[in-house]
Amino acid sequence: MRPSPGELHEHTRHRIPIEWRTPAQRLLSDFPATHAPWLDHPLPRFPALEHDLAVDVVIVGAGLTGITTAYLLKQEGVRVALLDRARVAAADTGHSTAHLTYVTDDRISELVARFGRECAQAFWEGGRAAIDEIERLAARTGAQCDLRRVPGFLHAPRNGRSHGRELERLERDADLARDLGFDTRFIREVPMMGRAGVRFADQARFHPRKYLEPLLRAIDGDGSFVFEHTTFEGVNELPVSVRANGHNIRCDYIVIATHNPLMARDGVVSAAAFRSRFSLYTSYVLGADIPGKRTPEALFWDTNDPYDYARVDSPAAGDSQYVIFGGNDVKSGQEPREMPESREAFAIVEARLKDIVPDATVVDRWLGEVVVTDDGLPFIGENAHREFIATGFCGNGFTLGTLSAMLARDRYLGRDNAWFEHFRVDRRLPFAP
Ligand SMILES: Cc1cc2nc3c(=O)[nH]c(=O)nc-3n(C[C@H](O)[C@H](O)[C@H](O)COP(=O)(O)OP(=O)(O)OC[C@H]3O[C@@H](n4cnc5c(N)ncnc54)[C@H](O)[C@@H]3O)c2cc1C
Repeated sequence: MRPSPGELHEHTRHRIPIEWRTPAQRLLSDFPATHAPWLDHPLPRFPALEHDLAVDVVIVGAGLTGITTAYLLKQEGVRVALLDRARVAAADTGHSTAHLTYVTDDRISELVARFGRECAQAFWEGGRAAIDEIERLAARTGAQCDLRRVPGFLHAPRNGRSHGRELERLERDADLARDLGFDTRFIREVPMMGRAGVRFADQARFHPRKYLEPLLRAIDGDGSFVFEHTTFEGVNELPVSVRANGHNIRCDYIVIATHNPLMARDGVVSAAAFRSRFSLYTSYVLGADIPGKRTPEALFWDTNDPYDYARVDSPAAGDSQYVIFGGNDVKSGQEPREMPESREAFAIVEARLKDIVPDATVVDRWLGEVVVTDDGLPFIGENAHREFIATGFCGNGFTLGTLSAMLARDRYLGRDNAWFEHFRVDRRLPFAP
């Protein structure tokens, strides 16, 4: 028996079915050890769409973003249809490292320089509000999802930048974030990493599929539906309906939550222009056992670009900890195509982990894709008439996916929300005239 993330009990290893995999994962389809432990938690199965129907809102994509959107709308008495071309919560949501944090890929000082204090603060406040919302939903649905508040540490890397200059910058970032209302402090030695860093209080971690299970169960029924193996094919106008699996779903409103952006219609931004504002990066992850209980449960990110990240869990059973460690991101399409080189990418990550924890034993390897925007902010908002899109979450898809769900609900219900303005789909680059 080995401990797994949070309270995960021992599981049977299985290969990820091909249709759940991202293109990068398909490259590794013959790599027997590729395995994200979250997928061991089974979720209910849902039928494929086999007839026409009518609802209020169609949500395309059943990862955390789509599931949360459908759940929040249903709670407001809205009839929803949630569609996924494969299985629910199996794509990126099943391959994440499940840090819940407001600390973004771009540092707070970079965000303030690019967008000003108000926008940078709103961006981080959005992440903080999303962690609170996840906590609220887990309590309301009774999800047993290993949700726990833990600190997060942004720290100087063990290799790379000059330590002296990095130290000063970290100190300034800690002051700036505190000034903007976040509970942070500079510390000389981050646990496990042995480097200076910033400590962020009240971040969190959870098990994504355990969290989403009760939400999914609550969506289906009473005029609302969840469909798997149901592919979005396009939109018919007047009256608006979504085409999927050769059938039509009449609706008032469409939410696109496919992560890798899919534009149902050209609107304030054309699909081609929109695509030019994203890049996809493949990130490599290891899960490893470490003997004893010597490190506090926490989240970690170093200040390299691309950065390495870690999450340490202490399962109640056993006398060991489980560390999730990842990084070595490469632009998708430019990742190693041959098996030996893919092994090489994991070997680099393993060497970095062993530099920090020499006695770690790697038990899981997996990878996935992050969608990175050209200005570091997500795209969350309406693109076309009665069409809402949510994407570009960089490494913060669970907090920003949750925030997107709150915004999609409020937009559909005609409620005002202060975050609408910051994440507009038709915003320009900050340096554009
Ligand atoms: C290695 C790694 C580590 C990460 N770590 C973190 C982390 O620690 N914290 C964090 O917050 N975020 C993290 N992320 C990012 C996060 O996992 C994603 O941003 C998040 O899962 C996106 O959720 P989603 O629901 O938007 O998309 P997904 O989970 O990818 O779901 C989109 C769904 O849309 C479906 N779909 C696509 N096209 C169609 C179509 N035409 N018709 C019907 N369905 C369709 C897909 O099948 C899929 O199920 C990480 C990502 C990776 C790869």
